[in-house]
Amino acid sequence: MNIYKCVFTGEEVISSAFGVKEVGDILIEAHGKLITKSNDLGIPSNDEQQLDDGTESIIDIIDAFNLKPIDLNKKSFVPLIKEYMKKIKGHLEKANPSRLDAFMKGAQEFVKTVMKDFDEYSFYLGESSNPDGALILSKFGDDGLSQDFCKNKTVRKKKKIDPGTKRYSLYKESVATLGAHNLKQSVKLPKETSLGDWLAVAVVDFYNKANLLFGAIEPCCTQETCPVMNAGPSFEYLWQEKKKIIRLSAPEYIQKLLNWIEEQLDDEDSFPKDPDQPFPKNFKSIVSNIFRRLFRIFAHIFLCHFQAVIDIGAEAHLNTTFKHFYYFVGEFGLMKKSDFAPLAELIKRF
Ligand SMILES: [Zn+2]
Repeated sequence: MNIYKCVFTGEEVISSAFGVKEVGDILIEAHGKLITKSNDLGIPSNDEQQLDDGTESIIDIIDAFNLKPIDLNKKSFVPLIKEYMKKIKGHLEKANPSRLDAFMKGAQEFVKTVMKDFDEYSFYLGESSNPDGALILSKFGDDGLSQDFCKNKTVRKKKKIDPGTKRYSLYKESVATLGAHNLKQSVKLPKETSLGDWLAVAVVDFYNKANLLFGAIEPCCTQETCPVMNAGPSFEYLWQEKKKIIRLSAPEYIQKLLNWIEEQLDDEDSFPKDPDQPFPKNFKSIVSNIFRRLFRIFAHIFLCHFQAVIDIGAEAHLNTTFKHFYYFVGEFGLMKKSDFAPLAELIKRF
């Protein structure tokens, strides 16, 4: 389990036990639910709803982290949130400047959405009620959610295919056809398209998808839950670095793997950006290596974190993405049948 602390006060404000996910590179969102507690141990704060039978109803997250309600109206919220954003800005400038622009833009948008439905939100501070700390917003939506505005994780950027290029229109086409035809058809090399372009687009696309899926379940994948990178108990993956073979935890392994793919994609000799520059002779084997490794991420998610996938409602998305991946790899012979062994049971059902 990951515990998230406010970067300013050091107080614990949320943990991965509450289905934490990142929203738009600016917030961490968690889903709480109302629980009923017997009231013989303490006096509830004003925020907690008293029930007649001596029990109280409280949101589990607020209860677990002893968050303190703060009464805000639109007038008092604006200076507080401005001050808070200024502090985060200062923190990012020092700690992670590359995230600054996205944060400032996203945060302003987010404040606008809060202002629009202001009455639907309640606000909390950390345990000590220190106004210098994270401001936590809670909103009962369709599913009842509470949001935490204090985010200090580093997020891996999505790889972009340059708009206006042939590869970009290929990418758009391949996305558009996904729903229309069956997946088996959609992986076929389109007419008048070079195999290199088609493979390059697919590598970036599947890298982004695997990255996103892993990001969604990442809070559940820790040194403790996954001390060894595996695809279920029968398949262990070891990392090779400078001719040394090392055993890594799943989160370490997957981070290294994603870094490695990113390096490959940035390497102009392997993935030339200029459409006139030919792909290298061994391009298919470069691509095949990347696909073989991406598979390990899918296998780990399926076999070790499927419950987390269900919890965030991404089950159908994971299945479709992997099916697409499987058909693509099959169409171009990018992996051996034996590479798929960990997910053989699943594949049988395709
Ligand atoms: Zn894991």
